[in-house]
Amino acid sequence: MSQVYTAGYHGASVQDLQAWLSEHPGVVVCDIRISPKSRIAEWRGDAVKKALPANHYVWMREFGNVDYRGHGIELADPEAGLNRIRKGLEVGAGMLLLCVCGDYEKCHRSLVAKLITKELGVVPVEISLKGLATTAPGEASRQKELFA
Ligand SMILES: [Zn+2]
Repeated sequence: MSQVYTAGYHGASVQDLQAWLSEHPGVVVCDIRISPKSRIAEWRGDAVKKALPANHYVWMREFGNVDYRGHGIELADPEAGLNRIRKGLEVGAGMLLLCVCGDYEKCHRSLVAKLITKELGVVPVEISLKGLATTAPGEASRQKELFA
């Protein structure tokens, strides 16, 4: 389904992200950090990419915040970012715009979401990833697979 989601992974694990994706197949994770680095090894871009099915992770630097060290928000290349989202929507892809920040309002993804609404007429849905790996409905069947 062609929908845009936003999320901050703070406090969540990559397993939580996997659990959410298993309920939303076809959604591509678009990493909108200005740099896909993390002190938490599993959240480094390469590691996230490896943990997800093929072609389910892209780094979308265009929507990164170049002013991340200051207190402002300046998107790296919003026009180019919007073009990528537009192309995704055209092929019917779902996209999850992922940053680290727990607080949606303070994160540059809130600005990106407003831009997408204004320019593309799509209202992104903010989701929470925290704890999904232990509460997702699919968990029981996954455990069965593990112990089969
Ligand atoms: Zn953020």
